[in-house]
Amino acid sequence: MFIGHYGPAVWDTQRGHTKPLLSLWQGFLAVQAMDLTAGFLTLLGVEGTQIVDGMPVFHIPWSHSLLGALVIAMLAGLTFRALKPSIGRRGFWVVAFLAFSHWPLDLLVHRPDLPIYPGGDYMMGFSLWNFAWPSYLVEVLLLGGALLWWLKVTNGPRWTVFATFFLFAFMCLLHFVAITAVTLQVQSGSFDPTSQPHGPMAGVMMISAVLLLALFIGLIERKRVPMFSQENRV
Ligand SMILES: [Zn+2]
Repeated sequence: MFIGHYGPAVWDTQRGHTKPLLSLWQGFLAVQAMDLTAGFLTLLGVEGTQIVDGMPVFHIPWSHSLLGALVIAMLAGLTFRALKPSIGRRGFWVVAFLAFSHWPLDLLVHRPDLPIYPGGDYMMGFSLWNFAWPSYLVEVLLLGGALLWWLKVTNGPRWTVFATFFLFAFMCLLHFVAITAVTLQVQSGSFDPTSQPHGPMAGVMMISAVLLLALFIGLIERKRVPMFSQENRV
């Protein structure tokens, strides 16, 4: 999964009548802690994408095994709590949950490339990505629904609403180019493996995409206030 991962990121941004523990941009980073790890390991040549039988297959045993996902979730929670001690134990669990949410969502769409532990032979993945358009729709709805809800529970100038829709459209396009178009090309026999980023460049692109999307939503978020916050109550 790619853009659908951002669905759960809104979960903590406005749960009720107090200030959220996490900002949305922090949620954007938490849900992608596993792909950030995969990006760094790809940069180092430990993980990456391989072409098997003309098909791009991920080799991501450390960042995307079930055990790896649990460890990354704990580390993400601990890192966030170390950087922002005021979030306390509850904040730790929120971040750990968001980081771990990546794994079941990937399980749904990945072709079997998710082991239980690094080096394990048993690979999991329900391959929803093989159904290019239905899987695209699932990811678009997860992201779109989440962003609509976020706009509903926050207030801000009109341009921030347009900017959010623009970011949504950009993310849908990015997803289409990076994932859906590749599946359609593989299925029609027109896939050219050399057109794919590989080696350290693939890692740089993964990390940059995750950081840029967090930066964009963070810039919009600065001008949007949670509806139930003190600032809005007066
Ligand atoms: Zn992933």
